[in-house]
Amino acid sequence: MILELRGLEEFPALVTLEAAEGKTAPMREDVLLVGAVTVSLTVQKSGDEFFCQGTVTATVELECARCLGPFRYDAQGPTDFIATTAQLLEQYRAEAVDDEEYVIIDSNELTADISDIVRETLLLELPMKPVCGDECKGLCSQCGANRNTEPCDCESNKTDPRWEGLKGLLGGASEKGTE
Ligand SMILES: [Zn+2]
Ligand SMILES: [Zn+2]
Repeated sequence: MILELRGLEEFPALVTLEAAEGKTAPMREDVLLVGAVTVSLTVQKSGDEFFCQGTVTATVELECARCLGPFRYDAQGPTDFIATTAQLLEQYRAEAVDDEEYVIIDSNELTADISDIVRETLLLELPMKPVCGDECKGLCSQCGANRNTEPCDCESNKTDPRWEGLKGLLGGASEKGTE
């Protein structure tokens, strides 16, 4: 996503950028698709630098941590960064002034690629463990069926075959102990 600075004449300037569905690379393994992204910025100019503040909004398709099914999640978060020149950024790094987030301005085109900032902003807004809904029943631990859509009989079947195996092991151990 490219922020064009050349056309901005009056400051603060209001800028809206949009990326179509699928144009933004997923920022985590359980992100299946990043839908259309909208970035709304207020841009203030100071010398050769542009101070940008605003919001990033997107609908993201996530994989449910319980049932592994896809679901849509609306993410919106604040962003705050400075578009600066490569020269100034080098200077800041040397002086270890690093409280801010920076993007570098392409000095020929007077543009800045803000794709990474946008992805980082959205990443911060995603739940650590995404769940498609509070009522999600997840996958059956025995047969693997999606219990939201394919009810199985595993729960009503009281004897779990794994316990049978364990009983055998315990029996063997106690027999040995009595010898
Ligand atoms: Zn789910
Ligand atoms: Zn089952």
